[in-house]
Amino acid sequence: MIELKTAGEIAAMREAGRVVAAVHAAVRERAAVGVSLAQLDEVARTVIEDARAGASFLGYHPAFGATPYPGVICASVNGVMLHGLPTPYRLRDGDLLSVDCGAYVDGWHADGTVSFTVGEPRAEDLKLIKVAEETLAAGIEAAVPGGRMGDIGHAMSTVGRGAGYGMQNDFGGHGIGRAMHESPFVPNEARGGRGLLLRPGLVIAIEPSLMAGGDDGYYMADDGWSVCSADGSRSVHVEHTVAVTSDGPVILTLP
Ligand code: MG
Ligand code: MG
Repeated sequence: MIELKTAGEIAAMREAGRVVAAVHAAVRERAAVGVSLAQLDEVARTVIEDARAGASFLGYHPAFGATPYPGVICASVNGVMLHGLPTPYRLRDGDLLSVDCGAYVDGWHADGTVSFTVGEPRAEDLKLIKVAEETLAAGIEAAVPGGRMGDIGHAMSTVGRGAGYGMQNDFGGHGIGRAMHESPFVPNEARGGRGLLLRPGLVIAIEPSLMAGGDDGYYMADDGWSVCSADGSRSVHVEHTVAVTSDGPVILTLP
C-alpha cells in the first residue's frame, strides 16, 4: 500500500531531513586522509543525538542483510557502491566516499546520501560525482504530479547511461515515511510514461548509483552488506528524500 502524506507529515519529514543534511555536513568536514570510517560514524551519531533524533539505520535488518546494521551511516569507499560498513578502515589520499544516512524525528524518517573525495581528487572521480548529481537532479525534476514513476528512472538512466556509466536496478529508491523503506519501489532505470501515477503527497527517496567501468554487474562482499562493482571500478551513490507536491518536487534532505 502506498500512503500519501499530509503537508504536516511532510513538514515532520523535513525536520528529519535537516538532521540528515547536518550529518552529511559534519561527516564531510571530518573526513580526511587517516580518519577511519568508524570515526565518521561516531561523528554522525553525535549529530543525530544532539538533534534529539533517531538513527534509522542502526539495527536495521532487511532480508539481504547478514546481521542487524551496526552503524548509523553507510560509508562506501571506491569500488563499494552501497552499504559499506563503518569499519576501522582509514581513508587514503584520493578515496571516493559515499555517505548514506537516515534519521527520524517524531517517528518520521528521511534518507539521503552524498558522495565526495578525500585528499587529492582524481579528475575522473569528480566527473563521476558530477554526473551522479546530475542524474539525481534529473530524477527529482521528473517527480511531478501527473507524471509516472517510470519517468523518474527514464530521466536518470538517460543521464547516467548517457555518460557511459554502469547502473543497476536491484537497489533503487523507495517510499519513505513512518518507516524508512515503504512502497513504492523507485527504479533507477525505467521506461518513461509507465508505472505509478505520481500524486501530491507521495514521498520517495530517489537514489541512483553509478559504476565508472560502464558495466552493470555487482556482487555482495563477504561482510554480507557491501555491494561492490563487479569490475572493481569506482562507484558513486547519491540520494535525496523528495516530496511530490502540487508546487512540484520538494527536496526534504537539504540543510
Ligand atoms: Mg539511503
Ligand atoms: Mg534510501
